[in-house]
Parts: sequence; structure tokens; C-alpha cells
Amino acid sequence: MEVIASVSNRYNTYTAKFGSRHKASCTAGAQQAVERLGEKIFGEHQRFTVTEIERKDGEHLSYWRITTDPSQACRVCGCTWDKGCEGGCSWVDADLCSNCAQVLEAYGNVTHGG
Ligand SMILES: [Zn+2]
Ligand SMILES: [Zn+2]
Repeated sequence: MEVIASVSNRYNTYTAKFGSRHKASCTAGAQQAVERLGEKIFGEHQRFTVTEIERKDGEHLSYWRITTDPSQACRVCGCTWDKGCEGGCSWVDADLCSNCAQVLEAYGNVTHGG
């Protein structure tokens, strides 16, 4: 999956936006703002790449593509971001989805707290 985010730069604060609901600000740079936005959209465990696609210097505006990593899959059921479990799931770990985490927990195979 990929989404296009816009980043505006005002007084060296970069604000990345996707739709009307997702927004993230950062003073470090446009790319960092987009990476924060990606975490808000996809969750902290989803891997993704960000690429600048267009820059409008005069308007202090740039456009970025956020692409989810298609190779990231659940180690138990093999679901991905694009093709999740029936009823929906989310990452509880980089390679474990929420559905499978529940099943594992029910069988007592998940150890908590290391
Ligand atoms: Zn799974
Ligand atoms: Zn799943």
C-alpha cells in the first residue's frame, strides 16, 4: 500500500499531512515528519519507506510517498498489511499480527516481559 503525504514548512517546523485525520510535526526535517506520520498511519511496527516525489520551494511545500514494505508478513499466518486476516488485524510485533498473538496467548506460548 502507498499513500501520498504533503509536507509544509513554516518557520522550520515541518508538518506532514495525510487526509484530514493524520498529521505529524517535526523540526528536524521533512523526511522525519513523514516518517512520524507513517508511524501514526500504519503503527509503529509496520515497515515502510518514504520518498520525496515533488517539491515546491516557493510554497514551502513538498509531496512524499509512503510505501509499506510488501515483504513484511506475520510469521504464523503470513498475512501482510495489504492482505490482513479476516476481520482485520494489526501488528503487535514486526512479524506477528494481533490475531495470531491472541491465539498464541491462549495456548500459553507467549512469554511476557522477557
Ligand atoms: Zn498472523
Ligand atoms: Zn493477521
